Amino acid sequence: MLNKKKLNDYKKVLQTRLGELLDEADRAVKNISETNADTSSDPTDQAVQELDRNRLLRFKDRERKLIRKIEKALVRIEDGSYGGCESCGAPISDARLKARPMTTLCIDCATEMESEKAKSRLFGGEVGEEAGSGEEDDEAAEGA
Ligand SMILES: [Zn+2]
Repeated sequence: MLNKKKLNDYKKVLQTRLGELLDEADRAVKNISETNADTSSDPTDQAVQELDRNRLLRFKDRERKLIRKIEKALVRIEDGSYGGCESCGAPISDARLKARPMTTLCIDCATEMESEKAKSRLFGGEVGEEAGSGEEDDEAAEGA
């Protein structure tokens, strides 16, 4: 599977990405509170602020998911399971890991999962938390 040097490389990439995300999340939260502090009486302004806030919250939701994925990948590096598909156990290709270091699935399983998700979306089942965040994961999209 992956040698130590490569694992370390991925670890660094993941940690850097995680740091950036946490920074961004921090800034986003600050932005929200600043926007709220500056309450305008103009209803148009308020509508715009509301829109911004919604966008920000949606963005934060995506960030949170990504952060969770990265944290999970880091745990997998520690316990030695990193680089293997979580579903079928096959090694995940280097190109795929490079493009998407937080992935836990090989391209075949990711593709399959995507079509499962698409199916359940189609039939209106099991949407819940995922609703409205269709772009959450484009695992299968890049075909690495
Ligand atoms: Zn797999």
